[in-house]
Amino acid sequence: MRDLYTTMDSILKALDCTNFFLFFRRSCYQHREHMKVLEQILNICRVVLRSTMMKYLTVKISCQVNSVEPRPPNQTKCCRSCLLGFFPSRVLAVDADHVDETPHWGYEGTTGPTYWPSLFPEFCSGRSQSPIDLNDDDDTLETSTDDWVLDRYDIIPKKMIIKNNGHTAQIEWTTTDIREVPNVSGGNLGDTYAFAQFHFHWGKKNNRGSEHTFNGKKFPAELHLVHFNTKYDTIGDAVLKADGLAVLGVMLEIANEDNEDLSPIIDGLSTIVDANSQKTLATPFPLSDLLPADTSSFYRYSGSLTTPNCNEVVTWTVFENSITISKAQIEKFRELLDEEGHHVEDNFRHVQPLNGRLLEKIQLV
Ligand SMILES: [Zn+2]
Repeated sequence: MRDLYTTMDSILKALDCTNFFLFFRRSCYQHREHMKVLEQILNICRVVLRSTMMKYLTVKISCQVNSVEPRPPNQTKCCRSCLLGFFPSRVLAVDADHVDETPHWGYEGTTGPTYWPSLFPEFCSGRSQSPIDLNDDDDTLETSTDDWVLDRYDIIPKKMIIKNNGHTAQIEWTTTDIREVPNVSGGNLGDTYAFAQFHFHWGKKNNRGSEHTFNGKKFPAELHLVHFNTKYDTIGDAVLKADGLAVLGVMLEIANEDNEDLSPIIDGLSTIVDANSQKTLATPFPLSDLLPADTSSFYRYSGSLTTPNCNEVVTWTVFENSITISKAQIEKFRELLDEEGHHVEDNFRHVQPLNGRLLEKIQLV
């Protein structure tokens, strides 16, 4: 361990913290330059750090790169506390094989989706990534008699929690006990999946925002209802298994009238403007309020989480029919703030290659 400290110390001295961050400030948006420097640093550190530590180094450096612009006066302090303080106290103190904290990522700059494959190489660089373009040139048409079984989808829970996690607005029940939460089966899913949370992706403008696209068409927002396979005890276990998650995706389209079914969520948004805040939703409601009236037609494929670590564990369902949201309602999503105090908007990943995967368009009959 002492050797590691000594080596890290000499690396940090060699880097010269202040110059390091001045460099990044000058070329904050020249991503290629960032990556070149990052690669040089990482090459040095690769010698002394094992893979999990490597991830932390990448993440903490890129985190600081990202925060240089909003907080330039703190850059030196930030650098010292981050590189000098973080390493000895946190990274070097933990077992390199047992780090479970999700490192920093975002939707722009050097922690944005373009860099996820290099920042989170374990999965984000995989060949079964999400979202994808749901293109009728690629899909196989299927009919099925396996009707949806949406158990407890019409139950109004006693309590729902709405959270701003810095990336999205997420709503959960207070229990994840699979005997109490809604669950979904049928729809050619095969297994039964228990509800864990739902959240949204949206654009800065109404011409974008969805993660999946329909024949190239983007929607202003997309809702994801995340469920985990009941054969596993917790979502934490399920996220490590190929058949672990089932996500139901619903597109949102702009309408002139408010969607009253979304009102409890829209009202809740104003209570969680700051990143990492959470509140009890004033008016709990059943999940069935969020599904399109007609769920009989949907796309199905095997893909991934659309945020790091991009685990390839998701059986995706994206309904062909959408629900509506008014312009005033979608504006409320854009008022949320991330950890840097910027508005949360354009929080979607761009479509990923299909890479020969089976894409089914299923019609229930
Ligand atoms: Zn999502």
